[in-house]
Amino acid sequence: MLDQDRIETLRNADVPPALHVIDGHRVAASDGAAEPVISPIDGKSFTTMAWGTAEDAEAAIAAARRAFDDGRWSDLPPARRKAVLLKWADLIEAEAEELAVLGVRNNGTEIGMALKAEPLSAVATIRYYAEAIDKLYGEIAPTAPDVLGLVHREPVGVVAAIVPWNFPLMIGAWKLAPALAAGNTVVLKPAETASLTLVRIAELALEAGMPAGVLNVVTGSGRVVGEAMGLSMDVDVLVFTGSGPVGRRLLEYSARSNLKRVYLELGGKSPNIVFADAPDLKEAVKTSANGIFRNAGQVCVAGSRLLVQRSIHDQFVEELAAYAQSMTVGDPLDPATSAGAVNSLSQLEQNLRFVEEARAGGRKVRIGGQRILEDTGGYYMAPTIVTGVEPGDRLAQNEVFGPVLAVIPFDTEEEAVAIANGTEFGLAAAVWTADLSRAHRMVRKIKAGVVHVNTYGGADLTVPLGGHKQSGNGHDKSLHAFDKYLDLKTAWIKL
Ligand code: NAD
Repeated sequence: MLDQDRIETLRNADVPPALHVIDGHRVAASDGAAEPVISPIDGKSFTTMAWGTAEDAEAAIAAARRAFDDGRWSDLPPARRKAVLLKWADLIEAEAEELAVLGVRNNGTEIGMALKAEPLSAVATIRYYAEAIDKLYGEIAPTAPDVLGLVHREPVGVVAAIVPWNFPLMIGAWKLAPALAAGNTVVLKPAETASLTLVRIAELALEAGMPAGVLNVVTGSGRVVGEAMGLSMDVDVLVFTGSGPVGRRLLEYSARSNLKRVYLELGGKSPNIVFADAPDLKEAVKTSANGIFRNAGQVCVAGSRLLVQRSIHDQFVEELAAYAQSMTVGDPLDPATSAGAVNSLSQLEQNLRFVEEARAGGRKVRIGGQRILEDTGGYYMAPTIVTGVEPGDRLAQNEVFGPVLAVIPFDTEEEAVAIANGTEFGLAAAVWTADLSRAHRMVRKIKAGVVHVNTYGGADLTVPLGGHKQSGNGHDKSLHAFDKYLDLKTAWIKL
């Protein structure tokens, strides 16, 4: 674990301007534009980043196309790609502390979470897919004896990846590692407010021996760089993690261009359902609070709707409020902090608007609801619990993506299922009960990509993560992630 002296040194370290990584070179934007990078810790700029143009995106895609078509990566024996990827993981691991602090300065996640969830998670993900790629076999079909049917799995081609600002390294690695291991080439666009660590790991990929053009990173705005990637005729697959409205645009871009495949990992409004017979209510209180307030609620699977059985509702909310108030919100580079900064001022303002609207609608703001630590210049919000929320309220239907918990009471199992499934989302859920049969029934009936039982979060790399309903299509993590990056090809051979 990082000690405070080391953190302080890294907190004040100069950060060179972030440039694109295109075709093996660090390059400025084609028109020379750069934007200041603002830290949510204190609202101050600490470096700049290249502000990409559509031409930059096109240059990166052209480089990725050449690198794919000439086979410099896709034609390598899988064990050779694995060796490069393992070397890359080692280099990231050796720089994990620097990357963790750089990431926190950029996006505000508390350091206690960031070190594990960001560089070290990326290292584990790269190693997982590197180790897997020389163990995947094709198939021989059960044909009649006079033919041979072979099913090959081939890399799809040029992958464009667009990722969000919460957990850029973790989510970036969920896309990059399987795509690159499978032999594809990639153009990655990080989020405007969390680009620095992804640029750095692309530089490390070159040091690890990844050929030029195989991994390219273009920074800048979604509307310019992201749109150029979405509309490109040379991108074969577009993978995305982010919000629903942007996901819809990507589907339109595909329809307007080359029908590139689009895989979306979108938002959620995940129900965390606590029955009166939960085996350990104290544990449920603690885990429920952490499941919405860590990283200031900026977690796609955050348990943002708490459904509590009416007989324990008041007591549970009381204990939850006490626990939430004991959490330390503030400087994300202080290891004692349990919830860091909101990523940007605009996100903070959006969070506050949701709470104000609920208050104006007669809902009770039990704790929080306000900006705190304003004198630091940073973007901090108190953990917020709103009670008496109706299932149809905007606060119960829309993703806030902040530390705001909507509490809804219920009486019966059937009612809990109906409320849980009553939004457009289907990303995650949890059920707290000691009744094994009820737990299984709930897992079957709740429409979500992951249903936790007697815990919240923590599902590791061995299991897939993907949304049901309007939370997305396709999966990150586990061997299933390869399905997005490997195409099936049949050879039908007359004997
Ligand atoms: P966002 O949709 O605003 O941005 C995501 C990315 O899309 C950024 O890189 C952005 O620059 C880019 N973008 C924006 N407009 C674009 C356009 N017109 N064309 C192409 N690209 C464009 O999301 P965000 O605010 O960065 O992240 C928060 C969202 O991400 C939340 O909805 C959250 O639930 C979701 N998320 C989902 C998962 C998951 O696994 N399902 C994980 C993390 C975050």
